[in-house]
Amino acid sequence: MTALDPSTPVAVVGAGTMGAGIAQVAALAGHPVRLHDTRPGAAAQAIAGIRDGLRALAAKGRLDAGPAEAAARALSAADDLADLAGCGLVIEAIVERLDAKAALFGALEAIVAPGCLLATNTSSIPVTAIGAGLRHPGRLGGLHFFNPAPRMPLVEIVSGLDTDPATARALADTAAAWGKTPVSARSTPGFIVNRVARPFYAEGLRLLQERVLDPATLDHVMRACGGFRMGPCELTDLIGQDVNAAVSRSVWTAFHHAPRFEPSLLQQELVDGGRLGRKSGRGFHDYRPGAPAPVPQLAAPRPCPAALTIHGESPLAQALAGRLRARGVAFEAAPAARDGRVARAGDAVLCLTDGRSATERARDLDQPATLLLDLALDPMTAACLPLAAARQCPEQARRDATGLLQAAGFEVAPIRDAPGMVVMRTVAMLINEAADTVHQGVCAAADLDLAMRLGVNYPLGPLDWCDRIGAGTIGAVLNHLRRSDGERYRPCAALQSAIHSGTPLHDA
Ligand code: NAD
Repeated sequence: MTALDPSTPVAVVGAGTMGAGIAQVAALAGHPVRLHDTRPGAAAQAIAGIRDGLRALAAKGRLDAGPAEAAARALSAADDLADLAGCGLVIEAIVERLDAKAALFGALEAIVAPGCLLATNTSSIPVTAIGAGLRHPGRLGGLHFFNPAPRMPLVEIVSGLDTDPATARALADTAAAWGKTPVSARSTPGFIVNRVARPFYAEGLRLLQERVLDPATLDHVMRACGGFRMGPCELTDLIGQDVNAAVSRSVWTAFHHAPRFEPSLLQQELVDGGRLGRKSGRGFHDYRPGAPAPVPQLAAPRPCPAALTIHGESPLAQALAGRLRARGVAFEAAPAARDGRVARAGDAVLCLTDGRSATERARDLDQPATLLLDLALDPMTAACLPLAAARQCPEQARRDATGLLQAAGFEVAPIRDAPGMVVMRTVAMLINEAADTVHQGVCAAADLDLAMRLGVNYPLGPLDWCDRIGAGTIGAVLNHLRRSDGERYRPCAALQSAIHSGTPLHDA
């Protein structure tokens, strides 16, 4: 264990959102903490804010009064960079600019002792580039906290080309001693979370642009069917459309404009219009006083048709059967059908999406009354299922399919026919990015899933999700999407190799 001893003074440079949060974490871990900011009065103001916050937490019983008071006393403002001389670790959380960060660490090298660790909280600038001009770049690593730092458990420990493994280890051990969960990452664009999470936003934004569904329905579907804590619209409204767009653009640029990272025109329009989300009062949704809450578009109640058949034993078929049985709805259980259908309701044929549109699937099955269901995190407990009908699907078949799902206790979100639907398309792309990230040695497979669960609250790590669905299914979805929508959906080499070798992505 190479964690810093709690008696070691820690410096935080930059007293904004992240710096203040990190200073609080270090102070609560028992370190004397010096906070420095070039903006006059900013450090003292941040410390006053942290102290108020600590007292409020103690008053609510979320923190013991003793440690809260001790942490409040441990914080001090440093007016001059030279005041950081005796620190054993300096964490930088200043403006996101390479020149500013490089200049700061250059200046710090002349002030701190040779054994002092240097860390940057950058979200997007390569650690290698920040350390390039240093005399001793080996002692610089990334310590990437998530916002809000006191509450988010994940810290990415980022190593540049020159970062000494001992530095990375000491930063990881120190983060763990501070109650955080460290994961190790190589300094590549977006590190782990900001890279692998891109499709969550990008696919949702694309579906909105193609008017497959509206923002309120998208958020609802991603929560009530996909099991995500928040949908892409409400989450980007919280993050700030400008901040989210800037990260997307920076990852896209860093990956030399790879099509899967292409920034969204729709999001750019929001940014240009000043609709930045909660902070400006409006984004995808309206947060102004008195504004109505977003309402998802759900199907009106339909009667359940008398003739119901559930085919096979797939998780979706089992869930439909279990839910119908629990509600006392009679149905016929039939063996798996060759055409992959999971159910028949009247004339309607229902299948799980495989990345083709319902219209294409209807043509391939020679069955105009074809409707597709989306992927659910857990179809047994999901509250909502998106439903897409082939263009030529008769109205009665749409009603029958809706009636069956409602009889099984689902809310039904009718969406425009789009390849891969909503959750399946997003999850397939998250899995593809996760597989590529591990394949490129950015991080270990287990760390990737941990990072996505703790950094962005995903209900399941993408690699575990792939094990559950099957690499073959994900590969088929992506290949179908690729055929209809282009190279953006190309399965990465690691996914292809998992499909061909039959090994789980964790071992690929
Ligand atoms: P912020 O704008 O809230 O705070 C930055 C602070 O740094 C300001 O108080 C500013 O006066 C100060 N500053 C600027 N240049 C300085 C310098 N040369 N020396 C000392 N102080 C200086 O920014 P933030 O959101 O706290 O982000 C800080 C860093 O953390 C950035 O690198 C950002 O990419 C990263 N980050 C941000 C988030 C987030 O959600 N906000 C999450 C993870 C990482």
